[in-house]
Amino acid sequence: MTRNSFPPLAAAFLLLAGAANPARAYVINQQIADTTNPANAGVSACPMPEQMNLDESGGIDRQWDTTLGANILTTPGYPGGAQAEVQGVLLDSFSVWAGVAGSGLTPASYAPLGTTSGGNTCTPTDGLNTICFAQDDSFAPGVLAYTTVVAATVIGQTLGAKTASSIGQILDADVELNPAVAFATPGALAANPTAYDLESILIHELGHTLGFAESPVAVAAMFPFAPAPGTFLGTRPTPEAPDAPLADDDRAAMRVNYPGPIAYGTISGRILPANPLSLASFPATSAGMWVTGYYGAHVVAVNAATGQVVAGALAGWSCASSQQVTSFDGTYTIGGLPLGQSYTLYVEPVTGPVSPQMLSGPLVTQPCAAGTANACTPPPANTLFDAQVKP
Ligand SMILES: [Zn+2]
Repeated sequence: MTRNSFPPLAAAFLLLAGAANPARAYVINQQIADTTNPANAGVSACPMPEQMNLDESGGIDRQWDTTLGANILTTPGYPGGAQAEVQGVLLDSFSVWAGVAGSGLTPASYAPLGTTSGGNTCTPTDGLNTICFAQDDSFAPGVLAYTTVVAATVIGQTLGAKTASSIGQILDADVELNPAVAFATPGALAANPTAYDLESILIHELGHTLGFAESPVAVAAMFPFAPAPGTFLGTRPTPEAPDAPLADDDRAAMRVNYPGPIAYGTISGRILPANPLSLASFPATSAGMWVTGYYGAHVVAVNAATGQVVAGALAGWSCASSQQVTSFDGTYTIGGLPLGQSYTLYVEPVTGPVSPQMLSGPLVTQPCAAGTANACTPPPANTLFDAQVKP
């Protein structure tokens, strides 16, 4: 699930483990410029991806609140105590995302991991990226953790010590773990099989801090359902393979949102119904703009040689710089694909364990912004691919 409000705030929740059928797609959160603000003169009204600022002086800030409740299960006798062990898990979890080959976000992109204390230090108004284990907030039933992201809609927007130089720049990203749920460090998980793996949960939430929404890929770190208690995501990270817990879908997302010097491939196109009249029931989304393609479909790139899912994307819209209004034409773009491979594509509706409701940010609140030059209305996600509407 995601939610957005003003100031632009997205919270994404990691849910309890659930049954999973594989479906796929990395999804990057978007922000639209407030075109009523004079500071945005000349800025595009098209959706822009949410991104950490790699040019932040001293590196991307990060701190954690060292207040730990009894729900954080650690290894008895760990050198330095529970705080030292949790700090190690945090550093490993950051390194998972910073260790993706071909991404421009590297371990050097981050500032050293700082600390704070008090328990309730995760606030979206301080411009500090904070992780809290004991914050006194309410969690909906089944929610293990959530991340709150504030991203800029105005050039020059400030939050704490940060000033936005681009639309979508993340100014604050806080991770809160549910203090009522038991989490175990990797070292303590085997002895606490009813606890959730702390590292898997942190990796998922840190993905949200980098601008990623839930991914319907069942093996992806950004899949919105946690591994079952006592189990963990993928393979544990090692110094040789720090990104081992991730799926290729997560890696593609990193290469797209934080491009590096290595070239990767992109596949793009549009998803259209066999019978275009099946779209006639969707009203115009803004003046003169009709729904002309499938909205909310998953397009998945599979390695043609191995049959493995590489990456996917959520199809539905494009935004031409000449018009600067989101057009619901079924456009998809899958980037971050290794070159020199052949890919097979398939398309599926979002009817698996990851529902359109879990993607409500990317599908409902982010493609258009009320009160701006891009004040369109997204159509509902199309989940009936076999609709054959006759005139
Ligand atoms: Zn999530």
